[in-house]
Amino acid sequence: MAAIQPEVINNPRVLSERLGALRREGKTIGLVPTMGALHEGHLSLVRRSKSLCDVTVVSIFVNPTQFAPGEDYEKYPRVLDADLACLESVGGVDFVLAPAPADMYPEGFDAHVHIGGVTRRLEGEFRPTHFDGVALVVLKLFNISRADTAFFGQKDYQQAAVIQKMVRDLNLPIDIRVCPIVREADGLAMSSRNKYLSESERKEAPILKKSLDLAARLVSGGATDAAEIKYRMRALIETAPSSAIDYISIADPDTLEELDAVEGSAVILLAVRIGTTRLIDNMILP
Ligand code: AMP
Repeated sequence: MAAIQPEVINNPRVLSERLGALRREGKTIGLVPTMGALHEGHLSLVRRSKSLCDVTVVSIFVNPTQFAPGEDYEKYPRVLDADLACLESVGGVDFVLAPAPADMYPEGFDAHVHIGGVTRRLEGEFRPTHFDGVALVVLKLFNISRADTAFFGQKDYQQAAVIQKMVRDLNLPIDIRVCPIVREADGLAMSSRNKYLSESERKEAPILKKSLDLAARLVSGGATDAAEIKYRMRALIETAPSSAIDYISIADPDTLEELDAVEGSAVILLAVRIGTTRLIDNMILP
């Protein structure tokens, strides 16, 4: 059976109208926001949406407002045709929203969204304007689609926490599902940015997951001192010659406040540059 191509829509208003008609027929809508360069991580969210919702919408938009000057906005991979082929191979995606920047931020656009609390530390410290841009575009996508459910990856743990906080604080009528991290065979978390790695850097990149595994082993062996665990992770990561650590954090899974001791549940988050490519990863400790 030939897979059905999703309908590609550039204009957000057109998508709103199409989805409005389906909603009036009683259909439920699932939204998967992405920046494209799709991989199995994204597709896991698409499959989850298909299994839970009648209609699945994937947005593909490299959102300028979440990049700071000097970050990789210009060089971020834009491969819409390959992305559509990828979605076609999965099948069952109804709409792809692929707007141009001017479709989302027309002349005179001047709105801002700022979510406090969980945005302040970690990524928020290294990329101070990032989560305002994420919250802005995601809120727009929620309003454009009026989706019942939106799907995000645990890969961007803090981002998912920010979206959940925005939904709670602003009473947004949408259900958020956070899906597990999909990894390459050697443990590297799949990411569109992995394409930036040179061959030798790619060989070093699994060190992030190895350091998370080390932490999990230490904790299951009885270690509780967060400083000691982070010290051991740092020492392991530094064996990779191209690595430079931005942060290693052991935090409360809800507030993302730093923990001194791992006694209840915790999440370990890290950001490491391998050469010029910045990678993030995380693990929830039970
Ligand atoms: P991005 O295109 O990088 O903005 O990611 C779009 C969505 O896919 C976000 O919710 C990410 O957390 C999610 N995602 C990216 N990589 C992975 C992965 N390796 N496993 C699961 N979800 C992912």
